[in-house]
Amino acid sequence: MTSATFGFAVQATCGKARAGTITTPRGDIRTPAFMPVGTAATVKAMLPGSVRATGADILLGNTYHLMLRPTAERIAALGGLHKFMNWDRPILTDSGGFQVMSLASLRKMTEKGVTFRSHIDGSRHEITPERSMEIQRLLGSDIVMAFDECTPYPADEGTARASMELSMRWAQRSRDAFGDRPGHALFGIQQGSVYADQRAESASKLRTIGFDGYAVGGLAVGEGQEKMFEVLDYAPDMLPEDKPRYLMGVGKPSDIVGAVARGIDMMDCVLPSRSGRTGQGWTARGQVNLRNARHRDDPRPLEEGCTCPACTGYSRAYLHHVIKSDEIIGSMLLTWHNLHYYQSLMQGLRDAISAGALADFTAAFHANVALGDVDLR
Ligand SMILES: [Zn+2]
Repeated sequence: MTSATFGFAVQATCGKARAGTITTPRGDIRTPAFMPVGTAATVKAMLPGSVRATGADILLGNTYHLMLRPTAERIAALGGLHKFMNWDRPILTDSGGFQVMSLASLRKMTEKGVTFRSHIDGSRHEITPERSMEIQRLLGSDIVMAFDECTPYPADEGTARASMELSMRWAQRSRDAFGDRPGHALFGIQQGSVYADQRAESASKLRTIGFDGYAVGGLAVGEGQEKMFEVLDYAPDMLPEDKPRYLMGVGKPSDIVGAVARGIDMMDCVLPSRSGRTGQGWTARGQVNLRNARHRDDPRPLEEGCTCPACTGYSRAYLHHVIKSDEIIGSMLLTWHNLHYYQSLMQGLRDAISAGALADFTAAFHANVALGDVDLR
């Protein structure tokens, strides 16, 4: 299904959790949605068709990486990011701000924006709210993120406030620069660290400006799951009910289950793809280290009943062998399995919300993880 405009409809609720659909001209996005990360115009070790086969409706692309290499202008000249990377469904791009802060050197932040040197070749660049909107337009992103400062953690109240207020001024500039682009969405980002009053003020400012969706920013930056859930107990409620709510950079499966229960509709994380390249598998029984010698003689699949190519075609012994041998297929198979597991988890969450049975689903999820990985008998 496609729609000429960007839209969002909630089809079912269970407690604070919502199951719905985001409509875009490039296809629908079932929510709660997990977005695999395609940092450099590729979800590493996966073909786009394979990513789609795992059940992904949308990918995330990174503005910071793409503006440096191959550059947004080059991608635009070649027909945009969708064509360039051969993914015709929706793409969300981040604003570049977070990765400038985590990757670039010699950063200097002013009211205008951020100047920095590339981590690749040391070249000098600037991102402002206006430039971020231009880059994301050149990429052809379906969901554009406002340029903000991801407030570091921990931050005292004064530091958090100054950072939040700067982000709200940048949110207005992002809105002004984005303009009117039917079929494309602009999301604002709530800041305010762990301070409820600042979260409320940020949400209020964003609502006044008006966005197509709202992200809860400044979380998953080292505060830990307990603190993150404390903020998620109130922060999403401050954002408009009729728009999607996006928790950036999250996370582990247990983070996702907890965030969805608190009213989050969208998430992204490098974890399933990155850990797939280091021999880590994610299953209903938790994390499995395939590098461990206990898998050496194990003829069983990584996860019984999983329908992904890694589990239907290969044994734990084979996965252990190719990972230990640094064979490329090891990264391919484990990334596929992990993305498949994540998308199955999202489908399970959507079904449970629709059936009004999220509490049972969550209890079963935690009980399974607590059992731990099945040992070879
Ligand atoms: Zn599998």
